[in-house]
Amino acid sequence: MQWRPDRRTFLKTGVAGALLGPRMHASAADAGPRPVVVSSGNGLAAAAKAMELMEQGSDTLDAVIAGVNIVENDPNDMSVGYGGLPNEDGVVELDSCVMHGPTHRGGAVAALRNIKTPSNVAQVVMERSDHALLVGEGALRFAQVHGFPEVDLLTDRARQAWLRWRENLSTSDDRLPPHAPEDRDVGSATPLSERDYGTISCLAVDSAGDISGVTTTSGLSFKIPGRVGDSPIFGAGLYVDNEVGAAGSTGRGEANLLNCSSFAVVEFMRNGASPEEACLMACQRIVDHNKVARLRDDEGRPRFGVSFYAVSKAGQHGGASIWGPMRYAVNVGGESAHHDGAHLYMRG
Ligand code: ASP
Repeated sequence: MQWRPDRRTFLKTGVAGALLGPRMHASAADAGPRPVVVSSGNGLAAAAKAMELMEQGSDTLDAVIAGVNIVENDPNDMSVGYGGLPNEDGVVELDSCVMHGPTHRGGAVAALRNIKTPSNVAQVVMERSDHALLVGEGALRFAQVHGFPEVDLLTDRARQAWLRWRENLSTSDDRLPPHAPEDRDVGSATPLSERDYGTISCLAVDSAGDISGVTTTSGLSFKIPGRVGDSPIFGAGLYVDNEVGAAGSTGRGEANLLNCSSFAVVEFMRNGASPEEACLMACQRIVDHNKVARLRDDEGRPRFGVSFYAVSKAGQHGGASIWGPMRYAVNVGGESAHHDGAHLYMRG
């Protein structure tokens, strides 16, 4: 669905109004199917796996994690887990967080090296520590003592991609010279829209209305070592509220970190927006806050992409992205299919 201009005004006022104004009430007719699994476009198999496990009685969190494990373990997916593109130094660093709605618990790891499935480590952080987020060396040591096998995450294919970047393009990195917010031609010669992002987010609601979610990624390719994106940060790349719904995101993590976007999507739903409307409102929030000249095109639109996926407790689902076309994966009744989401702008 394309964003209709006449709704723009509603959106602009609705963003503030939804958070601050009186609560709107979704009607019973807004209920969707349950159980349901919603995922980013690369999550057809993950959604199917999660649904299969839920139908066998699995908890929603175990189900979505088993789903994304498929992509984390896939050496050919260069944006998540094993085989992900490395950082500037050629080292793969992974980010993930998980949230379990019924207990409102969560766990996360960031800049984790050598472990194929950061989502499982995030779950163990949640279950076997009194912390919510472990990073870097500490996260790796925690994974080691919990028996996670260590492997070299850099596949030959990812190493060669990194080497090509290193040999030809490595002036297009993420370091910036001193500059002012109004400076335009600063930094990377590679358009932000062409940077390698890629992540999987997976959300599930079971027949009782319990909700969990996971987001997992190798993050921005060739990032500065230690860079942490939105994926392991609660409220940025993932948020779950068992009374309302869940949201996950892919795309430029910095934008979600600066806008607490996934939290905002859930709050918009709490105040009556449908999942799709809530996702669009979060896109618009990013656009409204994107004031730095080097991140805007000639028409003031973001020079980067962000997508959101959301599901309500009632089982409604939706997705939206700043730049369309946008599609996301849904599994209802065991069948995974792509659905069209909404967008603010269409790529030319
Ligand atoms: N959001 C991820 C990050 O910024 C990347 C992505 O989704 O493509 O690390």
